[in-house]
This record gives sequence, C-alpha cells and structure tokens, in this order.
Amino acid sequence: MKEYTYIMIKPDGVRMGLTEEIVRRIHSKGFEIKLFDVRKLTGEVLDEHYAHVKDRDFYPEMKEFMLSDYVVPMIVYGENAVQGMRELMGPTKSAEAPTGTIRGDYGNKEIVNQNVIHGSDSQENALIEIERFFGLKLNHGEEYNFGK
Ligand code: UDP
Ligand code: MG
Repeated sequence: MKEYTYIMIKPDGVRMGLTEEIVRRIHSKGFEIKLFDVRKLTGEVLDEHYAHVKDRDFYPEMKEFMLSDYVVPMIVYGENAVQGMRELMGPTKSAEAPTGTIRGDYGNKEIVNQNVIHGSDSQENALIEIERFFGLKLNHGEEYNFGK
C-alpha cells in the first residue's frame, strides 16, 4: 500500500542549498512529492511537533536553530514511504549516519540538532504531522487530487 510521510528540510539544509539534491534523492527512491512549501515556523507549532523532546536539555538550542531560517515542509508519497524516507535520511545523530544517507553526507557531526532533515517515524505520526503542517486530513493508500 502506498503511504504518506511528512518530510521537512531544516534550516541548515536550506542554507547549504541542499533542497534540489534532497528532492533528487527522494525521486530516485521512487517517491512522489505531492506538496511542498517554504516557510518559517512558529515556536508554537515547533513545541507541538517536538513535544516528545520538549523537556530535554538540548531543546532550547534546537528550538532556536529550527526558528532561525526557512524550512521546506513536504508531503512525500509511495510504497513504504515512512520507513524508506527514514533510511534515506539516516539515524538522528549525523556522526553515526552512514555515507550515502542525507544526514551522513551533510549533517553536522558535532551539533546533533543540525541534521538537515525531519521525517515522520510512523504511519500514524505521518498523518498527524501532515495535518499539523498542511491542514490536510489524509489517509494512507487513498489518492488525493492535491490543489484541485
Ligand atoms: N535532537 C538533538 N539532540 C539529541 C537528540 C535529538 O538535538 O540528543 C534533535 C534532533 O534535531 C532530532 C530531533 O531532536 O532530529 C528529534 O529527535 P528524534 O529522536 O525524534 O529524532 P529524529 O526522528 O529526527 O531522527
Ligand atoms: Mg522523530
């Protein structure tokens, strides 16, 4: 079954000019980008999105970084897209991410929060995150006519 996932290029990825390369990698895995946007986030939406790490000591610095510049939110669609995108991204800590993954190739090896890209970690969270950032209630496996 085809599924949706929420992907977001973080400010470091945008600043390094990686948007085009990341889009190329997404397409080369056979996934479609259904919608994308360029925007600055608010502290409110970020606190909600990162509620699972909001009380961690690294959060204030990470929040400042995430609000420091534009991000590129996207809806990505395809077979096994949630896990497939996590594999394309590599693990959270760029220093531990293999060469050939986005985080391994471009993430900051010292500063964990500068890891270039976000991707949903489950099918359930993907739909929650798509609704949070795009205001769309989607279901996996259902085709939508985006923008029509
Ligand atoms: N993060 C961090 N330091 C840590 C762990 C996480 O700065 O020790 C940041 C990092 O930007 C990560 C985000 O918090 O992407 C969310 O953490 P999560 O565990 O959800 O990792 P992800 O799903 O992004 O791989
Ligand atoms: Mg996560």
